[in-house]
Amino acid sequence: MTDIRTGFGYDIHRLVEGEYLLLSRIRIPSDKMIDAHSDGDIVLHALAQAIFSALGLDDIGTYFPDTTKETTGMASILLVQRALGEMEERDYRLSNVSIAIQLQRPKLAEFKPKIKESLSHILALAEDRIAVHANTGEELGPIGEGKAIACYCVTTIVKD
Ligand code: MG
Repeated sequence: MTDIRTGFGYDIHRLVEGEYLLLSRIRIPSDKMIDAHSDGDIVLHALAQAIFSALGLDDIGTYFPDTTKETTGMASILLVQRALGEMEERDYRLSNVSIAIQLQRPKLAEFKPKIKESLSHILALAEDRIAVHANTGEELGPIGEGKAIACYCVTTIVKD
């Protein structure tokens, strides 16, 4: 019997003065950067958390505390690799990944294909199994005021 599971991941980070935003390893030109203990790649944080979620595991903060020197400036790809490792150990594979980024500016429309391509490469998953959506904060609240960025991720994993 096929075992199908869904996982959900969410993350929010403060934005501070900077030169680019890092989204799934793609540098997006911006006058802001993501403030974080790690490299701040929020898409990879939400993605890793969604995979942990699908496996019934704890949140990424449990495995990678943001209070230790080991995780200072850490490449967020390591979080995803850890999550994929946990998944493969349990004989699951990714079925699809759905990402939603909430950011007031810059507009991400022209960067979404690059972000999707990067995710496809990281996950070894076909692009038609990955969605990357972007919304503004409609100028409401901290996201709308350009003070924060949020990312949501839903993933489905399958064991045959
Ligand atoms: Mg984070």
